[in-house]
Amino acid sequence: MEEYIQISKINDFIFCPRSLYFHSLFENFDEKTYHSTFQVEGKIKHENVEKGTYSTRKNIIQAIEIYSDKYQIAGKIDIYDSEKKELIERKNKISRIYLGYIYQLYAQMFCLQEMGFEVKFLTLYSMKDNKVYKIDLPDKKEIREFEDTLDKMKKFNILTDKITINEEKCKMCIYKSLCR
Ligand code: SF4
Repeated sequence: MEEYIQISKINDFIFCPRSLYFHSLFENFDEKTYHSTFQVEGKIKHENVEKGTYSTRKNIIQAIEIYSDKYQIAGKIDIYDSEKKELIERKNKISRIYLGYIYQLYAQMFCLQEMGFEVKFLTLYSMKDNKVYKIDLPDKKEIREFEDTLDKMKKFNILTDKITINEEKCKMCIYKSLCR
């Protein structure tokens, strides 16, 4: 499983390929040293899901490890409702639907499908304001674009590949104090 891409890193890569490097560098450290307060707050709420405290209903599957051999990706889901065939990813506060959020759901969906689960609905849930965002299942073009992103991630080299710096993104970036 070593070569597998962590699903949580897809969002980082889309935000900025360089942030992928920092994500990998710091993933084994105390996350409070680099996570913003906002992210820590979201993570605490996620931990309730991971501890299984979100629901005791039998049709709700929570925080299971998932993988896809086809795409060489692995990670965890937040919530899968086996009755509705709905995959739900919870975020602390969704102010905008980023492509990274959508790709995270696609990645989880492909893993679940490969593991034998049917997925009919994709949902993003914003916990702070209790908003639900329905995401369409990907069409062929969207699947191809998702696959292209995974290919770029696999080929990306922090030392040799040039990236376009977006100052607006840098201002919001949790790694800005570490990144030159
Ligand atoms: S500070 Fe800017 S260049 Fe550095 S990782 Fe963040 S977004 Fe990328």
